[in-house]
Parts: sequence; C-alpha cells; structure tokens
Amino acid sequence: MFPEEWAEVLAEYGQKPYRGTQIFRGFHQRCAEDWSRLTDLPLDLRKRLGEIFPVQPLRIDSRRESRDGTVKFTLELWDELGIEAVLMDHQGDYTRNRKTLCVSSQVGCGMGCAFCATGRMGWTRDLSAGEILGQVLDITRFQRVHDPDFKIGNVVFMGMGEPLLNYEAVVRSIRLLNHRDGQNIGIRRLTVSTCGLPEQIRRLAREGLDIVLAVSLHAPNDALRGQIMPAARRWPLKALLDACRDYIRALRRRVTFEYVLIRGLNDGAGHGLELAALLDGIFCNVNLIPVNESAAHPYAAPDAARVEDFRRILAERGIPAAVRERKGADIGGACGQLIWARGE
Ligand code: SAH
Ligand code: SF4
Repeated sequence: MFPEEWAEVLAEYGQKPYRGTQIFRGFHQRCAEDWSRLTDLPLDLRKRLGEIFPVQPLRIDSRRESRDGTVKFTLELWDELGIEAVLMDHQGDYTRNRKTLCVSSQVGCGMGCAFCATGRMGWTRDLSAGEILGQVLDITRFQRVHDPDFKIGNVVFMGMGEPLLNYEAVVRSIRLLNHRDGQNIGIRRLTVSTCGLPEQIRRLAREGLDIVLAVSLHAPNDALRGQIMPAARRWPLKALLDACRDYIRALRRRVTFEYVLIRGLNDGAGHGLELAALLDGIFCNVNLIPVNESAAHPYAAPDAARVEDFRRILAERGIPAAVRERKGADIGGACGQLIWARGE
C-alpha cells in the first residue's frame, strides 16, 4: 500500500497521516519483515494493525550462485506455488556497479513461446503487486544480513510470466518501487519486457511512466514469429510495431527490441536484412540474445561469428544493436530458463 492509502486506514484509528509514511518507510525502505520491526510506531497501534494487515514475506526456498556471480532465488508464495528471481551484476554503461534484479510477474506463462522453459510450464496464476514487490524487498533483506548497504539498483520484469497480462499489479509495483519514501528506484532503472501486446503497450503509454520498454520480436515476419511464439499469431507485427511507434511518440523514448538468435531458424543474413527493413525509421535499439539452452526445447545458439554478423547487418543499416551478455546459465538462471515445479 502507498503512504496515502495507509493514511486513510490510519484516520479510522484516529492517527495522523504522517504515520502512513512511517509505515511505508518501514516496510519499503528498511524492508521490515513484520510489524514488530516498526519501532517508531506505538506498540498498541502496531498490534492492532498487525491483526488486520498480516505481513506475508516470500519464503526463500533456495539460493544458487553461478560461477559468474549471478544468484538465482526460488521463492515460495503463500499458496505453496513457487517463482524464481535472479540477481545480477550489470555491466552496461548506464547500470555500472548496480545490482539488477530480474523479477517474475506470473507463476508460469501462458504465451507458450517454443524456446522458453517458463512457456513450456503454462500459466498457473498472476502475482499480486505485493508478491512482485516482495521479490525486491525480501531478497534485499536477505542480502543485507551479510551486506548492510545492499541495494537493488535496477529491476527488470524479465522473469517468469508476461507482465502486460498482469497489467494492474505490474504498474502498481512499478509505482511502489519508484516511490521516494520506499526503494526509490529511478523510473529509467525499471524495465518491462513484453512479448508484444499492442493494446497493452498503448495503455502503458498513457500511464506516463517513463520506464524502459523492451519488446520481444524474435522474428522479422509473421510466419516465422507465429511458429516460435504461438500466442503472437493474434497480433500481427504491423499492429505491434504501430503500437510501438505510438509509444515512442508519447514517451519520446527509444524502445528496445529483443531478438533471440536461434541457430538455423532466425539467424541468417536474410533475416537480419528483413529485420533491418522492418525497423527502419523506428527510434529503437536491438538486444540480440543468443538462445539459452534448456531441456524444455531443442534450440541452440549460433556461433559467435554469426551473432556478430547479424549485429553488423543491423548496425550498418543504422539500427544500434548489442549482444546481451549471458548470465547464470550454469544455474538455470539465464533468460528463458526459469521454471518451477512442486517438490523440486
Ligand atoms: N514475457 C516477457 C518477459 C519474460 S521473458 C517477454 O517474453 O518478453 C524475458 C526475455 O527472455 C524475453 O525477451 C524472452 O524472449 C527471452 N527468452 C525466453 N527464452 C529464452 C531463451 N531460451 N534464451 C534466451 N532468451 C530467452
Ligand atoms: Fe512467456 Fe516471455 Fe517465456 Fe514467451 S518468452 S513464454 S512470453 S515468459
């Protein structure tokens, strides 16, 4: 809840609105795991609020650390379902020396992308804003035990699930993470990655949230895209790119297009040329992601030379393209490897 929402609740208890900010700071800045930690509040108030608003932290089920320092957390939700979140050291110019947390927005995903382990498990349910936020707060609290100054600097909605199909909770969690009395994560340090739902992209544009929008493209034409992203058949590329153009116009910001490179499928010079033509004139940059392997699908990544050729084809046609660094693959924590099954 936002401080203003707390203030409304508190009014019923005859309390001043500033207590709302105290509560918000306690949970969101100091990452308190229960009411007893909010020692700046009178004891009887804490007790009364605690009865009506129980705090329900996510339980850290497992923590696996990769050779490259990436850490994958498996978190248990109140109903015993599980999700994963991945903590990385980001090396980009803009994100240097900052921890990035990749969060999940749904348990599983219903989009069924052929190259994604999460897609193979199907959709179970949406996460609440609290469960999305909890990934940041509960992991921060955990890390602070050994590193008191620990702070997450960037959040990317690139974990399990399709964020724009859980629209309200995702937008609410973005506003909460960005709040100055809470985690205070800069709005440009929040990235939402979507498989590309045109109407939701337009709706997001109207929120006036200046986040980074990343759109998963993965193919330069509808036939190929529909083959690897079955749910995308409902939204032709033309409609998707029109929505992206509207978004760019509204926010005056570049959109990032993600393109998973799969050997022998979408990585040819012809595909690069077709993609360059498709994106011609769109204010964007492209993130090339050599596909991460998984037992859930048969795809493999092209070799480094082919990836570089693909990048150059785009760059030579005026489309800035970068190859995404692979992280956490040895612990099943890289893009498209997140999965959860009961009892694992
Ligand atoms: N559902 C959203 C966000 C989660 S997936 C989306 O699809 O955009 C985050 C990114 O990882 C997407 O760009 C997705 O296409 C990519 N991805 C999925 N499986 C992958 C794999 N096996 N290797 C590399 N990237 C993958
Ligand atoms: Fe869902 Fe994204 Fe995986 Fe596709 S790539 S199945 S949209 S999580």
